[in-house]
Amino acid sequence: MSGMDFSPFFSKVAARVVPSPLREFFDALQTDETYIKLAGGLPEPELFPLKSVALTLPDGTNLEISSKDLVAGLQYDATAGRKELIVFLTDLTKRLHDPPTWRTPGSPDAHCIMTSCGAQDGQYKVLDLLLNEGDIILAGDYVYPNVLAVIIPRGCSVQHIHSDEQGIMPDHLEAYLRQWPKPGPGQVTGGKIKAFYCVPNGDNPTGIRYTEARKKALYKLASEYNFLIIEDDAYYFLEQRPLYKSFLSLDVEGRVVRLDTFSKTLAPGFRVGYVTAPHGLYRKLVAVSQTSTQGTSNLCQTIILTLLRKWGIEGFLAHCENIGAYYRRRREACERIAKKHLTGLADWRSPSGGMFLWVRFLGVQDSMPLVMGQLLERKCLMVTGSAFVAGTDARSPYVRISFSLATDRKMEEGFAIIAEELKKIRED
Ligand code: PMP
Repeated sequence: MSGMDFSPFFSKVAARVVPSPLREFFDALQTDETYIKLAGGLPEPELFPLKSVALTLPDGTNLEISSKDLVAGLQYDATAGRKELIVFLTDLTKRLHDPPTWRTPGSPDAHCIMTSCGAQDGQYKVLDLLLNEGDIILAGDYVYPNVLAVIIPRGCSVQHIHSDEQGIMPDHLEAYLRQWPKPGPGQVTGGKIKAFYCVPNGDNPTGIRYTEARKKALYKLASEYNFLIIEDDAYYFLEQRPLYKSFLSLDVEGRVVRLDTFSKTLAPGFRVGYVTAPHGLYRKLVAVSQTSTQGTSNLCQTIILTLLRKWGIEGFLAHCENIGAYYRRRREACERIAKKHLTGLADWRSPSGGMFLWVRFLGVQDSMPLVMGQLLERKCLMVTGSAFVAGTDARSPYVRISFSLATDRKMEEGFAIIAEELKKIRED
């Protein structure tokens, strides 16, 4: 089995990245007590400033971190993440996505899991591994700005592809790709189209959810035109089940990189997420992490591991279901209040999940002057649609309104202000 050839995808810098000689034997050092430890710069655990950490759950239950776990949490650990956490995440991923690459014993493309400092860190590292100046990333009409902020300063571009309520449209994507000669073996299209980036559930900002049929059609194009798929599923665990199959579930070739995070289900301050990447890419991800973050906070991983051990997979999924139900109630409230104030002034599509209502101001070409002018003056904050488009001259009639935090009363106030300002524009 030869597997995917990642060499045409890697940036010039990434191609030169090799594993850190200091970190490579770390796993063995950690697990095998028979080694004479003259190599690593590990501090003496006896000197750590904490002997216990108390965890209390919302229902008052106390959770104990064992002293062995606490030492592990305060010590350096393998860059890919704490072994027990990786085992849990592997079981969880098998259960939720059943990656086809795991069904072929010895597959060179088998996906591996590395923890990251949130999905953001995963995103940054994956894009950083791929991009040379001039490269192109495919994405929908509107893209999470922190991804644009990685791509654009590198002299790379985002090719926005038109989307409907099921995701980017395969015929639009194919029409774009057909402009380039078909890639030969070991080539990417045009020498520069490296990947397609999407948020397949409760998209930030549009709220759309990619259907399975759409994912299959896009995967087929990825295969034909040889690009990777970066599946940033930050809102996956908030979505109502059953869910459509993920890109990872469809990935027979090992071209999907999946980003998950505990930010929305546990807490963003942990800064713990995980990347599920085909082996060839995983190796490079670990190598770059060895010399950048060196890994994700071991203490945070240990706290999360303690929670996950208590809950088990079922308990964790039940917890996520509760969190998801909370945000669905916030979404319903937001839409109800929006309907009351903004009917005839704005429209929107009901989001599948996530935390955002993507609202189009009617009769407005660009929401920016209103958002940064009258609405800001009246302390009503939202994000202008142009923030989600590559290019400084972008204009958009949309705004992204978050329903995760504002109370019903604040939403009433906010939507009433928006309505007043939109009416004033119409009168002018
Ligand atoms: N991806 C998307 C689509 C997001 O909306 C966010 C959070 N706003 C992130 C990634 C980053 O999340 P994390 O806290 O896990 O880094």
